[in-house]
Amino acid sequence: MLKKGTKIYSILNNKCPKCNEGNFFEDSNPFHLKKVLTTNEHCAHCGFKYVIEPSFFYGAMYVSYGLTVGISILTFILLYYVGLNLVQVFIGIIIALILFTPFTLRLSRLIYINMFVKYDPDYKKEDSLKPPLKSPQGDNQS
Ligand SMILES: [Zn+2]
Repeated sequence: MLKKGTKIYSILNNKCPKCNEGNFFEDSNPFHLKKVLTTNEHCAHCGFKYVIEPSFFYGAMYVSYGLTVGISILTFILLYYVGLNLVQVFIGIIIALILFTPFTLRLSRLIYINMFVKYDPDYKKEDSLKPPLKSPQGDNQS
């Protein structure tokens, strides 16, 4: 299940969805909160551009919503059957959601990009590894 080449591998190991080699997020530790959503621009291994189109990761909100509801339901079941009353369960759900925020933010982006990008071990995009070309206006002035 966790073999390289599967979407689960990419999602759980913070890897590029295209080659499963380069890191998706700059920092692999989700609890370094300053860099929790700092995504690499390109894959360091294959050069795949992570932001496929402008505002691409807005769609990850819907995935994040689903994950949040899932965590809430699991926390409710767990705490309610432990024997806590509804107010305590409600407080427990809020605490669980706050604690899991770095995971849900990251997982939702990784799940979202894996919904659109297929694994391809032979993918290499040389162009994206080079710096962008200067605009024609910039060349005329110098
Ligand atoms: Zn890659």
